[in-house]
Amino acid sequence: MSGVLDAAYDAAAAAVRAAPRVIVAAHENPDGDAIGSLVGAVRGLRAAGVDAIGVRAPDELPREYRWLDDGDTVTSTPEGEGWLLLAVDCGSEARIAVPEGVRERAALVVDLDHHHDNTRFGDINIVDAEAACSAMMVRELLGRLGVGLTPAIATPLYVGLVSDTGRFQYSNTDARAFYAAAELVGTGAQPQEVFQRVYESVQASKLRLLARALGRIELRLGGRLAVTWLTRADIAETGADEAATDGVIDSLRAIEGVEVAAFIREAANGSRHKVSLRSANGIVDVSRIARAGGGGGHPRAAGFSSDLDRPELVALIEHEAAPDLG
Ligand code: 5GP
Ligand code: MN
Repeated sequence: MSGVLDAAYDAAAAAVRAAPRVIVAAHENPDGDAIGSLVGAVRGLRAAGVDAIGVRAPDELPREYRWLDDGDTVTSTPEGEGWLLLAVDCGSEARIAVPEGVRERAALVVDLDHHHDNTRFGDINIVDAEAACSAMMVRELLGRLGVGLTPAIATPLYVGLVSDTGRFQYSNTDARAFYAAAELVGTGAQPQEVFQRVYESVQASKLRLLARALGRIELRLGGRLAVTWLTRADIAETGADEAATDGVIDSLRAIEGVEVAAFIREAANGSRHKVSLRSANGIVDVSRIARAGGGGGHPRAAGFSSDLDRPELVALIEHEAAPDLG
């Protein structure tokens, strides 16, 4: 670990100890790493004797991760002010999903994240782009606070690790990820139970929605760019919930010859569309495409929100991907 990173963990641990209260938050449209890191941090901080509260936006959590949050988060603004805000898995300040006033009433912000394009928005920034997931970083911070892992803490952290590594198959799956997995399983995370709850509890409506997206796959740039899309009507007609669009992009990326996968969905609120991008082999840095659209992310997994219409988005993605695929 670099000296800078090591010092950041120590500074964050000291700040947590000194804070009257710690508010933990993750990003909008939370994934397994966001929710796992958030819940794991709240439980771990409480085990360290810290007055910790998890907060999140009022939207429902994705069904497969709902079981993780056992009353560990609130969707309203806690009383008081002058807290330390610990933002986990957020690449930028705009990504932090908190109820009204939470950000403004924090005295100090700690940014704990593994996105390579993290904007270092915190007063203390613990940014480790080599970490496979933020959950591993939460574990490191808890270690510095003297917290011993228990099944209740290890389980959400393990979910973060499993989901961000694509069940230990993505390019970020390194020896450190497996050591972290060994420790988390050794302290009570149950791989089979996590698999059952996260991956084997799919609603038929989600598969019907997936079928619509798969039926529309369009190959461009000689088969190296795969695009598909879903509308609000698709979501309404299949009866699927908002988070059911998760996973569509994985099928696109798996197509032989595809380097860039793009999934465009009509958003429920805010911007008109939400775009997810994946790079199959790392030939194209999709975070660059996402930044061109106003978002960001990792080289192999990125996204953005946009008011452009679908043909405009496809043109933008194709235009940005083409040079790398020439
Ligand atoms: P997903 O496609 O799963 O929604 O997002 C994949 C990754 O892209 C996320 O982990 C996050 O790093 C990044 N990402 C997605 N949407 C946005 C966005 O609107 N803004 C930024 N900055 N990053 C995003
Ligand atoms: Mn993550």
